[in-house]
Amino acid sequence: MISNISAAIKASRAYLCMECGKCTGSCPVSRFNHGYSPRVLVNKAIRSDDLDLLKDKNIWACLTCKLCDERCPAGIEYIDLTLATRLEAQKIGEEAMCSHGGAAQTLMRIMTSPDLEQKRMAWIDDELKTAESGDVLYFVGCLPYFDTLFSDIEVNTLKAAKASIKILNHLGITPVVLPQERCCGHDLLWGGDFENFKKLAEHNINEIKQSGVKKIIFSCPEGYRTFKVDYPKYFGFNIEVAHITEIISDAISNEQIRLKNFNKVVTFQDPCRLGRHLGIYDEPRNAIAAVPDIKFNEMTRNKNRAICCGVSAWMNCSTYSKSIQLARLKEAKETEADLFVLSCPKCEIHFNCAMKDERAGKESKIETVQLVTFIADLIEETDK
Ligand code: SF4
Ligand code: SF4
Ligand code: SF4
Repeated sequence: MISNISAAIKASRAYLCMECGKCTGSCPVSRFNHGYSPRVLVNKAIRSDDLDLLKDKNIWACLTCKLCDERCPAGIEYIDLTLATRLEAQKIGEEAMCSHGGAAQTLMRIMTSPDLEQKRMAWIDDELKTAESGDVLYFVGCLPYFDTLFSDIEVNTLKAAKASIKILNHLGITPVVLPQERCCGHDLLWGGDFENFKKLAEHNINEIKQSGVKKIIFSCPEGYRTFKVDYPKYFGFNIEVAHITEIISDAISNEQIRLKNFNKVVTFQDPCRLGRHLGIYDEPRNAIAAVPDIKFNEMTRNKNRAICCGVSAWMNCSTYSKSIQLARLKEAKETEADLFVLSCPKCEIHFNCAMKDERAGKESKIETVQLVTFIADLIEETDK
C-alpha cells in the first residue's frame, strides 16, 4: 500500500468504518448522483489495492463540504482521506474534470510565475484607504479575476473586497494590500496539485513576511481556511488571521459600528469553509441580528447541517451540481426571504450561475448579497 494512503487511513480513522452509510445518506452529491458513495470509497481505501482507489473517478466528485464528517458515528475525517487520495492520484496522472475548460486552474498555475506582471489593484478607488506598510493586511485573493472570468454570470465579487476595506477604514484601520499577492492555492491543493499549491503558498508567505504585517484579514472563507489550517500544516506559517465576519461581530459588540434599519426578510448560507471547516457560525448571525428592523429566517438546514453551494475547486460541475444548487436555492426561497445573504465569493458565483440555468424556476430565484457588502452599505457613517 502507498505509504501516504496508509498514513491517511490511520490519520482519518477510516479503518473504524462500520459501513453504517450515514455519510452517504447525508451527502448532497449522493442525493442526486446515485453512483457516488463516500461509504463505498472509504471501504475501497481500506480493502482494495491503491490503484483501484486512485483511478476511481469518484474521488473527484466530493465537495469536501464536511457534512459527512459531522454525521459519522466513528468520527472519520473523510475529507482528509479524500485530499490524501487526490494528492496521490495526481502523481500517477489522474485528475478531475475541470469546469470551464480548466480556465481557473490555468490562471492559478500562471500565478505561480514569480515574474508575473499583475494589475490586481485597479479596483481600489479613491474612497478606499489602503497602505503600503502597516500591521494589518487585507488578503484580496482571486476576486479581481473572478468578475472577468465569470462576466457572463454577472456577479460582482469585488464588491466584497471594497466593502471589507470600507469597514476596516470605518474602524480606523488602513490595511495593506499587496500588489504581488497571488491566489492562496486552495483550489490547486484540493485538486491534488500540491506542487503548484506550494509555489503559490511560498510566494505569498515570502511577500507577507517581507511586508512585516502582524495580522491578515480575509473576506474569502477558502483563503481564510488555507492560511489558518494548510499554510501552518505544510509550511509552518504562524501569522494571526481573521475573517471579516469576526471583525464585524467584534466591532458590533464593542459598539464601533451602528447600522441603519433594513425592513426586509433575509436568510443566510453558511459556507462550508467558514462553518464546518472553521466553526464560525455565530459571527455572521450576530452581524445580521444587529441590523434594526431586519427579519432573519433560518433555512431548515443551517449551521453544521448547511448544504454546500454545489461545486468545489472548479471541479466536476455537472447536472448533479445544478440539482444541489437549485434545491438549496429553493430552501432559501422557502424561508420567504427577500435576500439570500452569502459569505463566500464562490457561493455567489455558483448560485447565480444556477439561477441562469434553464431548469431554474421562480421557486429557485432569489436576490443574493455578500454579508460584508450588506453590512458596509448599512453603516451609519455619522458614527465615525
Ligand atoms: S458514516 Fe462513518 S462509519 Fe458510517 S459508513 Fe460513513 S464513514 Fe463509515
Ligand atoms: S464531504 Fe460533502 S460532498 Fe464529500 S462525501 Fe462528505 S458529504 Fe459528500
Ligand atoms: S455552477 Fe456555474 S460557475 Fe460554478 S462551476 Fe458550475 S458552471 Fe461554473
